[in-house]
Amino acid sequence: MPDADVIVVGAGLAGLSAAYRLAKLGRNVIVLERGEYPGSKNVTGGRMYLHAIKKNIDIPISEMPFERFVVRECITFLDQSSSVTLELNNYNVSEPMSATVLRARFDRWFSERVEERGATIITKAKVDDLILEDGFVKGVIVGGEKLTSNVTIIAEGVNSFLAEKLGLRKSFVPESVTVAAKGIVELGEEEINKRFNLKDKEGVAHAIIGFTNGVHGGGFIYTDREVVSIGVVCLLKSLVEHGKSIADIFEDFRLHPAVQRYIEGGKLVEYSGHLTPELGYNMIPKIYSNGVLIAGDAAGFFLEGGPILRGMDFAIESGSLAAEAANIALNKNDYSEQTLKIYMDLLNDSFVLRDLRMYKNSPKAISNPRLYTSYPKLVNQIFTQLMHIDGNPRPHMGSIIFNNILRNGQIIYLLRDIFDFLASL
Ligand SMILES: Cc1cc2nc3c(=O)[nH]c(=O)nc-3n(C[C@H](O)[C@H](O)[C@H](O)COP(=O)(O)OP(=O)(O)OC[C@H]3O[C@@H](n4cnc5c(N)ncnc54)[C@H](O)[C@@H]3O)c2cc1C
Repeated sequence: MPDADVIVVGAGLAGLSAAYRLAKLGRNVIVLERGEYPGSKNVTGGRMYLHAIKKNIDIPISEMPFERFVVRECITFLDQSSSVTLELNNYNVSEPMSATVLRARFDRWFSERVEERGATIITKAKVDDLILEDGFVKGVIVGGEKLTSNVTIIAEGVNSFLAEKLGLRKSFVPESVTVAAKGIVELGEEEINKRFNLKDKEGVAHAIIGFTNGVHGGGFIYTDREVVSIGVVCLLKSLVEHGKSIADIFEDFRLHPAVQRYIEGGKLVEYSGHLTPELGYNMIPKIYSNGVLIAGDAAGFFLEGGPILRGMDFAIESGSLAAEAANIALNKNDYSEQTLKIYMDLLNDSFVLRDLRMYKNSPKAISNPRLYTSYPKLVNQIFTQLMHIDGNPRPHMGSIIFNNILRNGQIIYLLRDIFDFLASL
C-alpha cells in the first residue's frame, strides 16, 4: 500500500486546489510544501480573477480573505515628466469579477480549509526528487525519506525542477521567462482610501508602461486593504540586452513621480523577486506521464496580455482538473499515461487551454519595443499639446494629432504595429 493515494508537491494555489478536490472526493492526499507555511514563499501581483475559485471551492467569496474588490482599472502611459491614464470605473458592481489578494494570508487560509476537508499538509518539506520505478513515478523523496503514492501532482511553481528532471520540461532560456520584483508598501486603510479615492472594500488595479527605458516590461499597482502592492515584470532577455537588473527597474518605477504620489511616506515592508513563464501556450511542456501530472505555473499556465496578468485562475482550475484526472485513475486502478491523458482532455475543454491557445501570440504582440518607448511618449506628446493653451496661435486639434504621428515616420510603424497587434491576438 502506498503512503497516499496522491502526493501533491507545493501548497500554492494549484496544489491546494488539487488537494481540496481530492480530499472532498474522500481520497488520501498529502501536500508537501517547502515553505514555513503555505503562502510564505508565494509571490503574486496580485489580482485574482474570481471565476475559478468560485467554481471550484464551495465557500462564499465573502468569507474568503480577499483584500479589496477591483472596481477601477487604469492603464497609464508614462513619459519623463507626464503621464496619460485610461480609466475604467465600474459602479454598482453586484458580483465582483476580480479581487486583490496577499498570498501569505490567502494561501494560509486556503490550506486550513483543505485540511478541514481531510488532506494532510506537511510544511518545511522540500521535495528533492521523485521515486521512479519501471518508468512510473511512485512518489517522492523528501528530507532523505521516501513517501509513496499512486499519483504525484507536481504543483511546485515556475521553477519546477522535478518536471525538468523527468524530462517533461526544458530548462528556461532568457526569452522564455520574465523576472518580476514586488514590493509591499504600508499606508493604512484610511490613507489608501483617500489617495486612491476609494471606499469600503473597493480596490484599484493599475498597469503602467513607459518607464523602463526600452526594456520590455511594465509595472503594476494594486490596492490591498492596509498596504499597496507595487511591482515590475520584465523579459529576462531584454534586461540582459539593456544591462539592467530587475532591482534597477523596480527603483526607477518606485521613485517615478506617477508612482510616488500614491506611496509617498509609506514604508516598504516587503520586497521579493520571482519568475513567470513568459511564452504561455508555446511553453507548455508535456504535463502527464506514468503516475504523474503537472499543474499551475509548473505547467506554464500563465498569460500576460498588456494590463492583464493571469496565472492564479489557471492554477486553481488546472489543480482541480489534475485532481479529477487522478481520481479517474484511482477508480480504474490504472496510473499509466494512457489513463492520465484524460487530464489533457479536461484542460482542452476548460478555459485554461482555450484562453492560452486563443492568446498564444500575445507574447509576440507585446514584444514590440515601441510599446515601451515611442508609443507612451507619443501619447503623452499628443495629450500635452492638445491641452496646451498659452495665448499663442493654436494649431487645429487634428493637425496636432497627425503631425505627431507623422513625425519620424511613426505612421508607417503605427499602422503596421496596429495590424500586427490585432492579427496576433
Ligand atoms: C510579480 C508577479 C505578479 C503576478 N500577478 C498576477 C496577477 O495579478 N494575477 C494572476 O492571476 N497571476 C499573477 N501572477 C502569476 C501567479 O502568481 C501564478 O501564476 C500563481 O501563483 C501560480 O500558482 P502555482 O500554485 O502554480 O505556483 P506557486 O504559487 O508558485 O506555488 C508553488 C508552491 O510550491 C512550493 N514548492 C516549490 N518547490 C517545492 C519543492 N521542491 N517541494 C515542496 N514545495 C515546493 C513553493 O514554496 C510554493 O508554495 C503574478 C506572478 C508574479 C511573479
